[in-house]
Amino acid sequence: MNDIKKEEEKSLNFIEEIVEADLSSGKYKTILTRFPPEPNGYLHIGHAKSICLNFGLALKYGGKTNLRFDDTNPITEETEYVDSIKEDIKWLGFSWSNEFYASDYFEKLYQFAITLINKNLAYVDDSTSEEIAAQKGTPTEPGTRNKYAERTVEENLQLFADMRAGKYKDGEKVLRAKVDMASPNMQLRDPLLYRIKHAHHHRTGDTWCIYPMYDFAHGQSDSIENITHSICTLEFVMHRPLYDWFINELEIFPSKQYEFARLNLTYTVMSKRKLLQLVNEKHVTSWDDPRMPSISGLRRRGYTPESIINFTERIGVQKRDNLIDLSLLEFCIREHLNRIALRKMVVFDPLKITITNYTGDEELLMSENNPEDENGGSRQIPFSNELYIEQEDFMENPPKKFFRLAPGQKVRLKSAYIIQCDEVIKNEDGKVIELKCTYIPESKSGGDLSGMKVQGTLHWVSVKHAITAELRLYDRLFNAENPLNEDGDFKDYINPDSLKTISNAYAEPGLKNAKFDDRYQFIRKGYFCLDRESSEEKLIFNRTVTLKDAWAKEMKKG
Ligand code: ATP
Ligand code: MG
Repeated sequence: MNDIKKEEEKSLNFIEEIVEADLSSGKYKTILTRFPPEPNGYLHIGHAKSICLNFGLALKYGGKTNLRFDDTNPITEETEYVDSIKEDIKWLGFSWSNEFYASDYFEKLYQFAITLINKNLAYVDDSTSEEIAAQKGTPTEPGTRNKYAERTVEENLQLFADMRAGKYKDGEKVLRAKVDMASPNMQLRDPLLYRIKHAHHHRTGDTWCIYPMYDFAHGQSDSIENITHSICTLEFVMHRPLYDWFINELEIFPSKQYEFARLNLTYTVMSKRKLLQLVNEKHVTSWDDPRMPSISGLRRRGYTPESIINFTERIGVQKRDNLIDLSLLEFCIREHLNRIALRKMVVFDPLKITITNYTGDEELLMSENNPEDENGGSRQIPFSNELYIEQEDFMENPPKKFFRLAPGQKVRLKSAYIIQCDEVIKNEDGKVIELKCTYIPESKSGGDLSGMKVQGTLHWVSVKHAITAELRLYDRLFNAENPLNEDGDFKDYINPDSLKTISNAYAEPGLKNAKFDDRYQFIRKGYFCLDRESSEEKLIFNRTVTLKDAWAKEMKKG
């Protein structure tokens, strides 16, 4: 019993340890976390990591999670992004207690700024951004305060009111905190609190022409909501003392910030701004292009919420930045799809075979729609004397261990019969266009009386029953492990072969009833799902992932 308990304790991540300590010491009766996206793009798998962490903590410890849109920058934010963010979180399976917007706090934040001015801890500065940067010093040299820092409280109150009233143009003035120009932490060298921006905001419209800086809005928004554990990524470590300074001086709820390592994945980029570039410059078709690491892209590609949650759990919560192998994410989806996908037969690159001794038609029983699922059921598929198999499953002059079809060689057709290749028919160019075969009537799957042993089993479809479908085969979006670390522009490393389309694959007829929510394994070929562009007239399937990790094999080969 004790051992089991120890095991459990060991597997806590460092944030869970903090939460458990805070709950057992009575510091908090219940915890409140938040997920705070800026609505300036669609969420990506890195955000999924943060969502699972914040919502997961609340679920585990009986707390709650707010969704707060950090919408302090009117220029980049849009309602479309707000909607997509909500959809993505819901799809992952989480629900928030409250939907909040930092912009709802604009008046409160304005009053916080006035409090700081009244304490002579904030001043209006007329310097240009270049001057401010130059006065800031360097990490090894202290900065210098300018004459505007000498302004009186009354003067600052008036000027700040005038800023709000729209008396000044963009960039003419800013409000700064008076902290410490000599601090080794650059964030504390009189940071900006407010800037003038005559811009329309997606929610507050034209009410404001001054907007709080992210750093002045973020921590206080946590405070306003009484967030107990404010979890963010490592780049905010140096901002924490500033947030604590605001909390202290404003005497507001002391939310505590904890930082963890941002998720980075190989062969992709993970910043909304960079992903937006890919969309705008048409390197991909949209935010939900199945090659994108966006949650909507992964969803469209066929990833399941379970696989994404499982992935974030496997990588854990780290304190140091790292780069996670894309193949781990692929492993997680493969593992889930293996359990849930319906097996279907689809021929990607057809080679016609004619079974010369078979007449008539029959429906054959595919005894398992999914061998991993007892309740997966069975189905009938039509068989006839003309079938398609894959070109790659035939070789005229095969090497020794080629267990597929070759002249004189036998294979089993999946859930059907054993056939033998008798004759190879070629066109004028010498290309193999058809095989004449015979089948062994006693070899029918499920009641094979032939006594024959064959090594290979091939998938097939009946020519006259098959339906056609477009298949979209995706690969990594970038050729470089970390495109941001390479010379030149990250877009120079886009994989030109990240999408291959097969416009006419032949599928077993049952697939005409494919459903958007179903997942399929095209036997021997990969995992697929219906694309949202698919229609009754034209079926389109996305390859979610291959059956095996082709890249791992490549790597081994060197
Ligand atoms: P981006 O550069 O992609 O826009 P961001 O950090 O600016 O990322 P936000 O919308 O501010 O995006 O992020 C919302 C929350 O998600 C934040 O708490 C942030 O720390 C977290 N987050 C963002 N990217 C990642 C990532 N790659 N891994 C883990 N958490 C992340
Ligand atoms: Mg951001």
